[in-house]
Amino acid sequence: MKTLLTNLSPAEMAEALQVKPFQARQLFRWLHQKQIFDIEKMTDLSKELRARLTETCEPAQLSLAHTSESPRSTTKKLLFRLQDGETVESVLIRERERVTVCVSTQVGCAVKCSFCATGLSGYKRNLSAGEIAEQALHLLSGENIEGRHPNIVYMGMGEPFRNYDAVISSVRLLMDKEGMGVGARRITISTAGEAEGIRRFAGEPWQVRLSISLHAANDDLRDELVPLNKRYPLKTLREAVGYYAEVTGRHVTFEWVLLDGVNDGMKDVGEIAGFVEGLDATVNLIPFNPVQGTPYAPPPRGKSESFRNALVARGIKTTLRKEKGQDINAACGQLRRQALSLGA
Ligand code: SF4
Repeated sequence: MKTLLTNLSPAEMAEALQVKPFQARQLFRWLHQKQIFDIEKMTDLSKELRARLTETCEPAQLSLAHTSESPRSTTKKLLFRLQDGETVESVLIRERERVTVCVSTQVGCAVKCSFCATGLSGYKRNLSAGEIAEQALHLLSGENIEGRHPNIVYMGMGEPFRNYDAVISSVRLLMDKEGMGVGARRITISTAGEAEGIRRFAGEPWQVRLSISLHAANDDLRDELVPLNKRYPLKTLREAVGYYAEVTGRHVTFEWVLLDGVNDGMKDVGEIAGFVEGLDATVNLIPFNPVQGTPYAPPPRGKSESFRNALVARGIKTTLRKEKGQDINAACGQLRRQALSLGA
């Protein structure tokens, strides 16, 4: 079986490939800094080493299956084919001052949030660290990031804390100075509320950010929207977040997908206020991106703005995201679902 190069840090490469540390760093730089996956193009490696690597290693684990770009090129979505034929999708969002890459951590997802295209497709398997990191490498390859530091968000398909070790290894790969050298504060891990994962994450020695998909702040509604709530109800989740905040002293972000008539009322405002009380937190409101097969719709813009204003009036830091990428099916799992239904 061939060695999968993008799974390995420079030190792991040196050991697995029996090469000198400086050769491992050269190889790592080609993959992670220059995004060159053709071993023959790695011209500072000797001819003999290139021949050996070509025979024994696989430089890339993803191949591009489909690309779609929004008309004004603010959003680009890629569907990748994995070596076993499965597919995952990743999104790049261009804004004036920054570029954000959203990566997937699993093929499908077992959490089955009722509004999510990925949840509807079911769970297949975890991604490896290289399969996760490579999404960012491919998305940023050829992208003009001059003066615009990339942000990486683990918010695509899958529940990151159900693939904890590979996620943490992929973060290390992306942060490696010999590679992309992404700053820890520019990386965000988003969980649907895996309380054990949140507690474990509190022990990681870095400033990587944590985001929690809340979507409802009473157990009845959250059981329905995010079934993981039955395992980790709000009280358990709040205790885990409190522990994380206390241990790390870090800020926490809550994501709230706005569903018209479901979780966008003044009752929800009061429940959010109760949940975040005592935390240094921001609530990100995301108008729902319609998903076929679900009964939900986004609220009218004015209603979303009133909801935001009511939270702000309660002293809660709140942002309201502009809808981006609806035209290219940018909601998590939508492109893959479409491809599956077409047999791609
Ligand atoms: S929203 Fe996230 S956690 Fe929920 S089913 Fe979709 S991918 Fe899984």
